[in-house]
Amino acid sequence: MCEILIKINCPHCQSSKVVKNGKKRNGEQNLLCRSCGKQFQGRYRHPGADPAVKQLAIRLLERNSGIRDIEELLGISRRCILDNLCRQGTRLKIAPARQHYQSVQIDEVWSFVGKRKKGKYWLLYAYSPEADEILAYSCGSRSASTVRELLKQLEGVAVEHYYTDHWKAFAQVLPPEKHTVGKAYTKNIEGVNTCLRARNRRLVRKTTCFSKKKENHLAALNLMFSYRNKQKAKHHTF
Ligand SMILES: [Zn+2]
Repeated sequence: MCEILIKINCPHCQSSKVVKNGKKRNGEQNLLCRSCGKQFQGRYRHPGADPAVKQLAIRLLERNSGIRDIEELLGISRRCILDNLCRQGTRLKIAPARQHYQSVQIDEVWSFVGKRKKGKYWLLYAYSPEADEILAYSCGSRSASTVRELLKQLEGVAVEHYYTDHWKAFAQVLPPEKHTVGKAYTKNIEGVNTCLRARNRRLVRKTTCFSKKKENHLAALNLMFSYRNKQKAKHHTF
């Protein structure tokens, strides 16, 4: 069978090996990417269904655009943006890239999820200054169980020493011989905190952009951390 290559790049992998693949029920041309195997349409009636628009929405979220800004700029619904965020953000996995770290700093950042009066929702995360990498994070109350949940994600990784602030849950969970407390030792992660608050509206103090739903919040955190870990290779354009 003779296949005619179409002059259009695949919105998923940018490959130019795109061929016609029948018509959709709505009459639109269906296309198939020979490189990644994904199908897409030549034209979308609803921009929210267009994979290229979805990808752009994710790029805008990574660069700290608000849901309402994206709705306005791309002409797609809020619902569609949040579904896309959840789908793509949940798929990302934040996990240590190395087997061994000399020092790991852990710190906490608060935000809100749902109603402000329900109280703060804490984000706890582990950062390696030597690798400039966010290794893991956990969310919840300001308690030992949230610290334990974070450490569970570092199982199988050799960490020589942990540095934290005076928050007492750290001392309850971290092995004392491997744990040093003091603001002087958490300077690097404090710097990352500032970056995160500047780069994610959900973490800005006095924000009105907090998530209504926990799943949106977690997907946004996944997206933010994975973006930061990717970007550090490009000299801190985060
Ligand atoms: Zn492709």
